[in-house]
Amino acid sequence: MCPFCDEVLSGTSFSIDLRDILDKINVNGGTKQDPTPQNPNHLIAQRGLTASIEFCVQHRHEKQYQVALNQGWPTRPDFIDLPDRVAGLAE
Ligand SMILES: [Zn+2]
Repeated sequence: MCPFCDEVLSGTSFSIDLRDILDKINVNGGTKQDPTPQNPNHLIAQRGLTASIEFCVQHRHEKQYQVALNQGWPTRPDFIDLPDRVAGLAE
């Protein structure tokens, strides 16, 4: 569960990127424990939403990335073939 917005995360632990962002938030103003009944690990960023938003953007990206992988989206798009594929969609 996200410590800032309480959204359910895609994994059971923080990714390396999420850990790095949380470390950065803690360096630049820090966080304060603010446990709630729903989220005992809830935090408040001392510098407000602008300090924690990067964390939430990243975990939402990671969740969507996992959905894309599960749906078979390529991780390395074929840009050489892209124009022909786009043109094919218009037909
Ligand atoms: Zn969040």
